Amino acid sequence: MPKDLELDSTTRRQLTEAVLSYADDYVEDLPAAPASFPPIDPDLIKELAFPPPEHGADLPQLLDTLDRALDSGINTASGKFLSYIPSGGIHTAALGRLLGAVTNRYTGGLHGAPGLVAMEDGIVQWMCRLFDLPDTASGVLLSGGSTANLTATVAARSRLGHDFGGGVVYTSERAHHSVAKAATIAGIHPDRVRLVPADDQLRLSIDALRTSISQDVASGLSPMLIVASAGTTDTGTIDPLRQCAQVAAESGAWFHVDAAYGGFFTLTDRGRQRMTGIEEADSITLDAHKSLFLPFGVGGLLVRDRNELIHSLEGRGAYMQDVPAHDTLPNYFAMSPELTRPSRGLEVWLSLHLHGVEPFRSALDQMLDLAQWTADELRALAGIEVMADPELSIVAFRATAGDSATKHIAQHVNDSRDIHVSSTTVDGRFLVRLAYLSQRTDTTVAQRAVQLIKEALVAHDPD
Ligand SMILES: *Cc1c(COP(=O)(O)O)cnc(C)c1O
Repeated sequence: MPKDLELDSTTRRQLTEAVLSYADDYVEDLPAAPASFPPIDPDLIKELAFPPPEHGADLPQLLDTLDRALDSGINTASGKFLSYIPSGGIHTAALGRLLGAVTNRYTGGLHGAPGLVAMEDGIVQWMCRLFDLPDTASGVLLSGGSTANLTATVAARSRLGHDFGGGVVYTSERAHHSVAKAATIAGIHPDRVRLVPADDQLRLSIDALRTSISQDVASGLSPMLIVASAGTTDTGTIDPLRQCAQVAAESGAWFHVDAAYGGFFTLTDRGRQRMTGIEEADSITLDAHKSLFLPFGVGGLLVRDRNELIHSLEGRGAYMQDVPAHDTLPNYFAMSPELTRPSRGLEVWLSLHLHGVEPFRSALDQMLDLAQWTADELRALAGIEVMADPELSIVAFRATAGDSATKHIAQHVNDSRDIHVSSTTVDGRFLVRLAYLSQRTDTTVAQRAVQLIKEALVAHDPD
């Protein structure tokens, strides 16, 4: 419809209002929307994948196409979405993202928008204080936990210089796969990545870690990086962080904590207690699109020593000779693989400054309560075994009758399309998991989930 790429004010307002009204209806209709949709029609896939036309279409028609595209898959925006790790998608962050895109200022370096960098740095420094990191600490907002784990791995690797071939990465067998993937991308040979066994509480076993390190040191290798999880994706389990920090200090390894899922629970008293030891980390991965309820696309890496990160990632080109050096504010391009980046800080800033911190804390507290309530309810059911008391907001359980009965529960819950859950495997046994991490999830949702699980137990014929 609009012929020119630059819009006049009238067109701009018309289009913006149409999009905002679409967005508002979408959110308004969410409570009634299903948690997941029927499989997508292959003909629709072909239709949706059509290349752009030479001459543009009308916005209403395109919003209609979007509507049909959204009616498939899992409804991650819904409060009834309890699978994988939910992402709240708070509206204020979406507004911040719009402002970031419209103002379109460059925050990769200090010269582009020092004011926006200052606002983002204020957010990052607030995060550093949350984890009691020292004054040398800093960080960078990234696309998510995977890029943050990658960035941390590169920083850890550079402590060994260019000759890192003998450097070894240790993490738990229950760690997120992005930890091993980061090692691969960073050019660390798979033979140098140890997936250390977890103990019966699913926590990284310190004894096994120590044994693994001694064996490697005896064969002339160097412990390079220890990655602990502060909230595993499967079960929300927190590794023994203080002990991991101690082993790292003894062995000279970089200590990274992957708190992509669990990190911001440190805003709550319970979360903070459970994550003690995290303040000793050399670096911490966070996902604001998980435990800060933001829409997908904002994670971050905090580092104990800003200079160490810059040392490993700074690059310079002649075309950048006008860019000032870091002072108290950082050049983000020197702290991550990215050069050009969206104004991520703006959306985090707008959300945190508009709401204040308290609503985030109480929403996280509510997630902890929901998980505890669900675990208690499920534990009271004959035929259900809850894996452990939830440390954060994930409840993992199985049917005592075995895998087939457990799978039946997941199927029954998901077939209802009222709730969506996902599964995992621990020690060869199939588990259903419920993850609470959306401001749209409340007790009604938890009650419905438990009710569906009860129904499945009654309906299942043991085979
Ligand atoms: C989600 C997750 C990641 C990966 O983060 P993305 O934002 O999806 O890239 C890494 N570690 C843990 C523990 C996670 O839960």
